[in-house]
Amino acid sequence: MPVVIDSDCINCDMCVPECPNDAIAMGKQHYVVDVDKCTECEGFYDQPACIPVCPIECMTLVPDA
Ligand code: SF4
Ligand code: SF4
Repeated sequence: MPVVIDSDCINCDMCVPECPNDAIAMGKQHYVVDVDKCTECEGFYDQPACIPVCPIECMTLVPDA
């Protein structure tokens, strides 16, 4: 169940340093999460570290497709 960043992302960079897996990087238009790297922060934190720091709440946990 990776985190997905929607197109409202303002590229503020706040979430990037929070990720223990280096799963967040700039994409073509906005930041994106590498679904192969995102572990929901399992083993590091009780819940995703990135979601609470996003100022516009454009990050969400989605079920595996
Ligand atoms: S949930 Fe954790 S591992 Fe996944 S992108 Fe966010 S900070 Fe990185
Ligand atoms: S914190 Fe939110 S708005 Fe900022 S880069 Fe990350 S996803 Fe985009």
